[in-house]
Amino acid sequence: MKITTRLRQTALRLVLPCLALVLVACGSVSAKPPRWTTAPEGYDFNDAHVHLTNYVQEGPDIRGFLELMGNRVGRSALFGIPLQQSWSYQNSGAYAPSYYLQSDAPLYYYSFTDAYIAMAYRSLSPAQQARFDPMITGFNPADMYAADHIRRVLRAFPGVFVGIGEFSIHKEFVSSKVSGEVASLTNPALDRILDLAGEAGLLVLIHNDIDMPFAKQGAEPVYLTQMKDLLKRHRNATTIWAHMGLGRVIRPVQRGISDATTERSPDHVELVEAMLEDPALGHVHFDISWDEVAKYIVADPDETRRVAELINHYPDRFLFGTDEVAPRDPKQYFKIYEQYRPLWEQLTPEASAMLRKENYVRLFDQARRKVRAFETAHPR
Ligand SMILES: [Zn+2]
Repeated sequence: MKITTRLRQTALRLVLPCLALVLVACGSVSAKPPRWTTAPEGYDFNDAHVHLTNYVQEGPDIRGFLELMGNRVGRSALFGIPLQQSWSYQNSGAYAPSYYLQSDAPLYYYSFTDAYIAMAYRSLSPAQQARFDPMITGFNPADMYAADHIRRVLRAFPGVFVGIGEFSIHKEFVSSKVSGEVASLTNPALDRILDLAGEAGLLVLIHNDIDMPFAKQGAEPVYLTQMKDLLKRHRNATTIWAHMGLGRVIRPVQRGISDATTERSPDHVELVEAMLEDPALGHVHFDISWDEVAKYIVADPDETRRVAELINHYPDRFLFGTDEVAPRDPKQYFKIYEQYRPLWEQLTPEASAMLRKENYVRLFDQARRKVRAFETAHPR
C-alpha cells in the first residue's frame, strides 16, 4: 500500500509539471494575439511621431511607455532623438542642460541611440513588439557615410527596424548648433540616404522647416522649392513630412501680395494642397504632430475649418502623432490629442479614422513587409 501511494505520488510529481507545461504552452499559443493585430479595441490613435528619449538620451522604460499607451494608443513608432546636447562646463557650469534651448554648447549625433532602441524593442514579447515600429535615427544626414550606417544597423538588428527618422535637415535653433557641417536638402549625402530608403522600403520621417524662423510674410518659404525637388528625386521612398513643415517659430505662411506683381501669393494650406495635388508627390504624407503645430491649427476657427477641409479632401495623406519627448504621464502624453478636439469635431468619420489610425497601419505595415524582404535578400 505504502509503495503504491509512493508510486502514485511520484507519478503525480512527474506528470503534473508536464501537464502544467503543456497547458502553459497551449495557453500561450491560444492567448498569443495574431501578429500586427494587437491594438486594443476602440483605441484613440496610432502615434506616428513620438520620442522615447530626450536630448540627453533619457526617457521612460519601454514597458512604462507601453503602459502609458494603454488602451488609448494602438501602435507607436519607436525612436529616440539622434542628437545629444553636450554639457559644457565652460558654458553652463554645474547646470546640466536637457534641451537644446538650455545651452549654447553644441549638439552631436549619438549613433548609439539605434542600438538602444533595438535592444529595448527586443526586450519585449512578440505581442508587445507588434505594437511598435522602430526607426533608425542615429546618422548624420550631412555625411556621405550615413547610408552605410543605416545598412549596418539593419544588418546588426535584422527583423527590427521599419524606417528612418525623425531626422532633421533644417530646424530652428537646432541645425546651427550641430557640430560639423550643416545639413542641407541639396547635399548628395541626403540623396544616398533616400536612395537606400527607396531600395529597402524604409519609411522616411523627415523634419524640415519650410522656412527660416521669423521669415518675411508674403514671400515663398525659403526651403519649399528645395524640399519639393528632394522629394521628387526620391519617388520610391514613402515619406512623411513632419509637422507639415511648421515649427515652434515657423508660422504657417500667410497670404501676401507681392509688391512687384500684385499677384496674391499662396498661404500655407494652399501650399500643402498644391503638393497633395501634384502627381509627382503622391508618395508624400504629412503629420500634424507637435503641440507647437496644433497651436496654429486651433488658434482660430477659420484656420481649423480650412485644415479640416484639406484633411477631409485628402484623408489618406495625413497622420497624427503626439511628438511628445520622453513622455512619463498621461497628462503630458495625451495633451495634444485633447488640444486637437476642435479639429477632430470637423473631420468626417472616415477622414478622422484614416488620420488617427488607418494611414499609420497602411504605411507602417507596408514598410514592415518591404524591409523584411530587403533583409532576406541581403543577408549578413
Ligand atoms: Zn519630433
